Amino acid sequence: MTERGQIPEVEPTIRVGIILPEDRQTNVQLDLSNLPDFQIIPGKLPVESPRYNIEVEQDFLLVNGSRLDKLHIRRPDTGIDLEKTIAVHPVVAGRGFHWEKKIRVNLLGDLELTVHGGSLLVINTLPLEQYLMCVATSEMNAACPSALIQSQTIAARSWMLANVEQKHRDLGFDVCNDDCCQRYQGTNELTRQALDGALATRGQVLLYENAICDTRYSKSCGGMTESFETIWGGDAIPYLPVHRDSENNGWKDLSLSTETNAARWIQSAPPAFCGPATVPEDSLIRYLGSVDKSGKYYRWKVKYTQSEITELFNLKLNLQAANVIKIIPVSRGGSGRLNRIRIQYTDGNHEIKSREITSEYEIRRILHPRFLYSSAFIIDHQALDNDIPGKFTLWGAGWGHGVGLCQIGALGMALKGYTAPAILAHYYPGSELTKIYS
Ligand SMILES: [Zn+2]
Ligand SMILES: [Zn+2]
Repeated sequence: MTERGQIPEVEPTIRVGIILPEDRQTNVQLDLSNLPDFQIIPGKLPVESPRYNIEVEQDFLLVNGSRLDKLHIRRPDTGIDLEKTIAVHPVVAGRGFHWEKKIRVNLLGDLELTVHGGSLLVINTLPLEQYLMCVATSEMNAACPSALIQSQTIAARSWMLANVEQKHRDLGFDVCNDDCCQRYQGTNELTRQALDGALATRGQVLLYENAICDTRYSKSCGGMTESFETIWGGDAIPYLPVHRDSENNGWKDLSLSTETNAARWIQSAPPAFCGPATVPEDSLIRYLGSVDKSGKYYRWKVKYTQSEITELFNLKLNLQAANVIKIIPVSRGGSGRLNRIRIQYTDGNHEIKSREITSEYEIRRILHPRFLYSSAFIIDHQALDNDIPGKFTLWGAGWGHGVGLCQIGALGMALKGYTAPAILAHYYPGSELTKIYS
C-alpha cells in the first residue's frame, strides 16, 4: 500500500478493492484460462480446471468444494501482457448509483479473496503504472490529443500517490474500483491512448515543497478556477488557487465573490480554454465519453416553477415548506461558486422561516433532482405574486467544483498545441514536474 507523505523511489504496488463487503456478495466466478502459468496459494488446491466457483460459507471460502480462509492467485511475472488476465464475474459497477450494474472484469496483477463479515472481499494487487493505464480511460478516447491524455495521467498518478483521502485504509486497500475513488474496470476499457499516456509519462508526478501534489480536477471551471478552501474548507493550498483559465489576463483582478461581479461574469461568456470558442460544445461528446447530449457546460440555465422548487426542497431537505420566497446567496468563492446560501420559505401556517445550506456539495445536491452542474450561479426570482415568485431561473457557469485541472480547459489547451508540462503548470501553479522513479 502507499503511505501518505512518502515519495516512492521505485514503482509502487497498489491494492484495489474489487468486491467490497458493502456489496454483500457471497459468490463469484474466476476464469484463469487466459493465465496458464498462474500460481495458487495455498498450493494444495487441486488445479483441474482454470475456472473457479467461489462461495462464502460462514467465515470461509468454498472453492470448487474445498474450504479455505483465504485464496491468493499470483501471476509469476508482472509484465504488461494484456492477453493474460484474470476474469472476475460478477463485479458491481456504479456502486450506489441508479445506473449500478454487474459486470465482468479482466484484471492484471494478483488477486486476493477473503471473507469479511460474511461477505466477499476481493483485492487486486498490481503495479501502479498498470493501474493508471486502466483508470479513467472512458475519458481518454482515440480523438483526444496526447497532451491531454498525458496531463490527465500525471494528475491521476499524483492524486494516487499524494494519498490524501484514504477512504478504505481500514479494509487494507488503497482505492476502490468505482467513482468513489477512480473508476477501474481492469483492461476492459484500456485503450492504446491510455497505454501510451502511461508509458510516455512513467514515474512523473507534480511536487510542491517536496511533497506530491493533491491534484484534484473537475470537468469545467467556467473560465475561472476555484480555490481549495472555498470547496473543502481549511487552509489554502498554494497550487490550488483562484485563477483565470485563459492565456489573456482579462478579469484577472476581478473578485467574483461579490454579487455584482459574479452576475457580470456569469451572464457574459469571457473567452477561456474551457469556453466554446476554444472547444466547440457540440464536439465535446467526441472527446469526453461521459457528457450529456446538450453539452452546454460553460454557461447554462436551469428553470423551476414555484411548485417544482418547493417539492425539490421538501424532498431533499425535508423542509415542509408551503412556498419558497427567496434563495439568498450568502458567500461565494473567487470563481463565483457559492458555498453558503439561505432559503427563505413559508411553512404550513404562513410563517416565514429560513434554512442555511453551508457547502458547495449540499447546494448542488438540493438544487437539482440529481445534481446541479456547479454552484457558480445567480438566481432570478420572477413572476412575483404577493412576494412569492412563480418562477426561479438559475444562470450558471462550469461543471464540477472547479478546483485544480479543468478537463475541458486542458482539452482546449491541448487542441491549441500546449504540451502536457505547460498544461500542468497552468492548472497547478508553482508545482514542479518531476520523475520520481524510472
Ligand atoms: Zn473508494
Ligand atoms: Zn476551465
